Amino acid sequence: MKKILYSFILLAMLSTLLSAKTYHWKKGTTFLSFLRNNGIPQKLYYNLDSDDKELIAEIRSGQKYSIKKNRILIPITDELQIQIIGKKKLSLEPIPFETLKGSIHLTVKKSFEKELYAKTHSKGLLKSLKSAYTSLNLKKIKKGDKISIFYEQKRRDGKAIDNPKILASHITINKKSYYNYLAKDGKHYDSLGEEYKKIKKSYTPYIRPIQNTRVSSGFTHRRFHPILHRYKAHLGIDYANCTGTPIKSTAKGKIIYRGWKGGYGRCIKIQHANGLVSLYAHMSRYRKGLKVGSWVPQGKIIGYVGSSGRSTGAHLHFGMYKNGKAINPARYVRVTKHKTLVHKLKGKDYIALRKKVVHYRNKFKKLRKNGGKPLYIKKNNYLVMRDNRAKKVNL
Ligand SMILES: [Zn+2]
Repeated sequence: MKKILYSFILLAMLSTLLSAKTYHWKKGTTFLSFLRNNGIPQKLYYNLDSDDKELIAEIRSGQKYSIKKNRILIPITDELQIQIIGKKKLSLEPIPFETLKGSIHLTVKKSFEKELYAKTHSKGLLKSLKSAYTSLNLKKIKKGDKISIFYEQKRRDGKAIDNPKILASHITINKKSYYNYLAKDGKHYDSLGEEYKKIKKSYTPYIRPIQNTRVSSGFTHRRFHPILHRYKAHLGIDYANCTGTPIKSTAKGKIIYRGWKGGYGRCIKIQHANGLVSLYAHMSRYRKGLKVGSWVPQGKIIGYVGSSGRSTGAHLHFGMYKNGKAINPARYVRVTKHKTLVHKLKGKDYIALRKKVVHYRNKFKKLRKNGGKPLYIKKNNYLVMRDNRAKKVNL
């Protein structure tokens, strides 16, 4: 009888030793006082580098932590935990998680969003699908269209972490195919290596040569000239400003003239793309080092405002010429344009993606036949894993 009792006590002791006990981090407890209370040398903390110390300072009161045998685990973030082994070792370790793989194929009957959720019980999957196809309007998916997805979900303690990752997917919209593959860089590409994301870039092809300044005279074919006292065309824009104000090139180009030019005084001409030439006149001086043949980027200081040549005061005369004919610079300057860029995989990355395309070819075929294996199945009022191991999950 005694023997049985002893072995029972021993068993009970053993099981408490083996199973982890959980505690809550008490309010006001500092990490150092925690070490002291548990008889752990504080030098283990002082030996850490400053980044780790900073992270450790983030333990929240109420945080659950566990003690199992001689191992203490205190989570700090969703991914990192403090591990203390015995009285000798203190380190930051990743919190382990499991990765589950799922798949789904469906033919849309009415609303693909509702039907996808009904089959997968994952709101995150829809979010992931939308971000995998950023440049494709999924609202166009209608009755009869098809969706196939291979995905994986990270879980920790039965709880989903982040949204699922879409490894490969195929959507047909009105019989048009859109294959999508996750590449090593974490971005989504079509079968030819073009990213499912268009980057809209706005740019100003021609900028004002002087920022924040007043236009004292605009472009006209008839203007009363203050010095010549007669009507004369004004084939440019005058920007009034102080002597010495920097003048910037309106766009990138090549300097084709730098010198004195009659009434224009000291001036520079720059040749741009599309047969355009810009002219900057009445300068007080040029920027050092610039000569005919120099290439300048957009916005480069090329000289300084002055009153050289036929001029009544310090100003910049800015002209633009298309194929030698004066045009109104106001039509070009400060007009913001947009261009769309698409990132395309090249070289090794492209080859790796093409291997994926081949790898998934048969998998898609099978998936279309068997309908796939979503990760979660609804049973009564809670979700269970598809292998029927009842496990409540928080999606
Ligand atoms: Zn002028």
